Amino acid sequence: MNKMRVRPRFRTLTCAVLILFLCSSATAQSTQRANRNLQVRIPRVTPNREIIRMLAEIDARNIERTIRKLVSFGTRNTLSVQDDPNRGIGAARDWLYAEFVKAAERSEGRMTVVKQTFEQAKAARIPQPTMLTSVVATLKGRQAEAEQRFYVVSGHYDSMCGSPTNATCDAPGANDDASGTAAVLEMARVMATHKFDATIIFMAVAGEEQGLLGSTYFAEQAKKNGMNIEAMLTNDIVGNTLGGNGVRDRSTIRVFSEGVPSNETPQEANVRRGVGGENDSASRQLARFVRETGQRYAPQLKVMMVYRRDRYLRGGDHIPFLERGFAAVRFTEPNENYSHQHQNVRVENGTQFGDLPQFVDFPYIANVARLNAASLALLAIAPARPKGVSIVTARLTNDTDLKWQANNEPDLSGYEIVWRDTISPVWTNSLPIGNVLSFTMKGMSKDNYFFGVRAVDRQGNRSPVSFPSPSGRTAPATSPPPRQ
Ligand SMILES: [Zn+2]
Repeated sequence: MNKMRVRPRFRTLTCAVLILFLCSSATAQSTQRANRNLQVRIPRVTPNREIIRMLAEIDARNIERTIRKLVSFGTRNTLSVQDDPNRGIGAARDWLYAEFVKAAERSEGRMTVVKQTFEQAKAARIPQPTMLTSVVATLKGRQAEAEQRFYVVSGHYDSMCGSPTNATCDAPGANDDASGTAAVLEMARVMATHKFDATIIFMAVAGEEQGLLGSTYFAEQAKKNGMNIEAMLTNDIVGNTLGGNGVRDRSTIRVFSEGVPSNETPQEANVRRGVGGENDSASRQLARFVRETGQRYAPQLKVMMVYRRDRYLRGGDHIPFLERGFAAVRFTEPNENYSHQHQNVRVENGTQFGDLPQFVDFPYIANVARLNAASLALLAIAPARPKGVSIVTARLTNDTDLKWQANNEPDLSGYEIVWRDTISPVWTNSLPIGNVLSFTMKGMSKDNYFFGVRAVDRQGNRSPVSFPSPSGRTAPATSPPPRQ
């Protein structure tokens, strides 16, 4: 009995001592060797069976049904009629609300649904004050330490024909963006029956085509209320797999992420100019997290990371979040067909124009929903990304000193250092270091690599990476700077 109790403790202690010894005495090469050795000492990450089962519940037939229903309202232009039960954005709003309520009924009380309504003042595409409503379903997390950590996923349910202010023309919007809305509704339906540590918000947003108005209102309220939105995913134009360029691609999804944060201050820009980081915003770490998640849970879809905020001449509902300092990415199909976006429905010289359901690939959207759902699930069961991560710049050294603040989740196991060559687009190396709040990468100069820190729980779930900022000075000590 005594032995039984002592042995595991002894093993844990030996392992911890070994990890610290190996790491603190390692040179650059031996650190990487130690990394390989240490990998076998931590439990391998076996895919989470519950998440796999959850993803299998996502059904392309539900997505098709939602899209056809949304199209049946004729137009969902934000300026269209709001009190007709069969046509216009009001009918779409009420139908979506009822569907999200049905999803919530599967959640044993964890999911609540509200209509977030506000009066939008006159704006470029709003000729007179207009009531806008987003439908917002919140699936509450079950861990006290994580329930105030929010992950948001959205699609926009408004649509437009050739003119954004034409409230009466047919605007089926099957792809832009009934596809994203249907994906979000299906995620809500499926995820409502599962439990997560952190809170997930599913949104069908209005006013996107009018200037990102619904998402701007939500993000502004969130900022005012001090909501801790750790990540936001928007799905917009995720349903067409035959591009205007003739390319058929059913196995790629683009994930757009900005490099330099939209809300960067001049001081932060100055630091970045000195030491880099233009490829390491929180949004870019989120995109890398989505890519890694996809490789494990949605291999039928290849994540094409695009290192820019959005496409040329276009925007989306992630932008108001970015502007307020929340990490956010955009999902969009790889090859768009502009004959089926923002077009009046018509046939011209034998070509069908218009955003019609016949140009939408429902099983593909289901795969996009699976990638989103896997990412949200893993974000919401993993610990939060570490906060206050910094590279200590007090001394000139060939080592790299990192420190960060403690996570507070009860199931936290510890932290990992990740690193890569400065020209690598993704993290290439990781080293588990146990539950410590600082670490020195011996013989690995901060000048030669990018480093990051992520948190790991006892099941091996990893947070997105936090990229360190320098703590201390970043400029040379002498003034003016020496020219070398
Ligand atoms: Zn759109």
